[in-house]
Amino acid sequence: MKKVLFIYPDVDPYIPDFSGRYNQGVAYISAIFKEEGVQVELLHIKTYDDIDRIGSVLKSIKPDFIAVSTTTNMYPIALDAAREVKKYENIPILFGGIHSTMVPRDVIRENAVDFVCVGEGEGVVKDLIQAQRSNKDYSGIGNLLYKKDNEILENPVRPVVENLDSLPFSDKKIFDISKTEDMKNSAAPFSVSRGCPFHCTYCVNNRIRKLYPNPGKHVRFKSPEFAINELTDYLQQYPDIRYIIFHDDILLLNKKWANSFFPLYVKEIGLPFICNSRIEMLTKENIELLKESGCRRVWVGIESGNEELRKSVLGRNMSDKKIIEAFDLLHQAKLDVQTFNMVGIPGEKLEDMLDTVKLNAKIRPNGMQVTVFYPYPNTDIYDQAHADGLIMNNKTGISYRTESILKHETLEPGDIKFFNLVFKMLVKIYQKFPERWPELDRILTHDNLNRGLLARIIDPSINLLKIIYVKYVRKYYNIKKSNYKL
Ligand code: SF4
Repeated sequence: MKKVLFIYPDVDPYIPDFSGRYNQGVAYISAIFKEEGVQVELLHIKTYDDIDRIGSVLKSIKPDFIAVSTTTNMYPIALDAAREVKKYENIPILFGGIHSTMVPRDVIRENAVDFVCVGEGEGVVKDLIQAQRSNKDYSGIGNLLYKKDNEILENPVRPVVENLDSLPFSDKKIFDISKTEDMKNSAAPFSVSRGCPFHCTYCVNNRIRKLYPNPGKHVRFKSPEFAINELTDYLQQYPDIRYIIFHDDILLLNKKWANSFFPLYVKEIGLPFICNSRIEMLTKENIELLKESGCRRVWVGIESGNEELRKSVLGRNMSDKKIIEAFDLLHQAKLDVQTFNMVGIPGEKLEDMLDTVKLNAKIRPNGMQVTVFYPYPNTDIYDQAHADGLIMNNKTGISYRTESILKHETLEPGDIKFFNLVFKMLVKIYQKFPERWPELDRILTHDNLNRGLLARIIDPSINLLKIIYVKYVRKYYNIKKSNYKL
């Protein structure tokens, strides 16, 4: 193996002029290839048309190995890209990333796929290179599925890398990072940890942890010194960085680690940052630490405003009271806080979606993201929905933000679409008229209100306004995306 072409599908039709995002998994694997003396090039697929470029890319790069990293929603595009490669040349293709980790046997069954990597890929790639160099077979390479004489072989999963400091710095240069979506706002994605200890039923983390023989080691942090060195190196490569976006699932999981990391961060890096957290971690003390260290925005998952549904269906064991208390503390500290929310959860009713609207109205986040619930394959909730016969369309795709693939006994597809489209507006209305909530509830859940029809009318108008704003207003006045205007 001398030259690898990394293919990373990353299409987002919801963002006009989408320029792609940095992916940490790809950057880590690229660093390993390079450490082993293998040349790496990236084909960052940002539009469907990029697949048509594969023939010419193969011709100019002449790779002898292809690595593909894909999420579930990008999987159809990844597969199309792999098939396109095979049309030109029979180059070995390795699939990795979340989708391959969750359903490796489905992926390896595809004719265009030769190898599948389950879970963390650093060791797999290293061993594959060594095996090819020394002409050994692949039977000892943990986490690998492969084909031999028309048979599919599957090796056991190896333990997770316990010491993250033993890995090289991720290879940010493989992406044209200065042109990615985040860097348009001078914000740099980074992470200091891997894993999450919680048990949300819809989250891949909950399953991935169980794959490993050492699940107790799933949550790991880089040492504060190593993380600071990597950040320093990052800033030297990209001096225009003005913000750090910590992509860790929950930045404040380890209090002892945070207490030694953040003073160093303030001293050596000193840039404002954005991070994710979870209600349980948002204590007064932690919020103060975040604030003092330069945190400007925290993203928090609410997901459902109905406590019972949140606990029993989503496995998020947190009360409304705790959520409200945490948001009071965040507002007292004047921290910008944004929420993640979902509509179309299995078993959800109109009233439950309204509970999510009302909880957001109560806690007054500075911004909200709402998506249509999507059951990722092999998660607990997917298995339950599958057993209950609720999965209507097993095809993966990128329409997860607007359409549900589930059969809902208590909701119409138009209800979900409507709430998804007008969620933020409803939160504002509920905030403005707290005394009229019963009346608003009655109107919004009334049988005669054709929510599906309303959604069909509103949807194109919103899209049209978005396009006009991004293509003309934002460009003309040189307005940066409001996301990181902190
Ligand atoms: S807290 Fe977040 S990352 Fe952790 S299991 Fe739940 S959804 Fe996944």
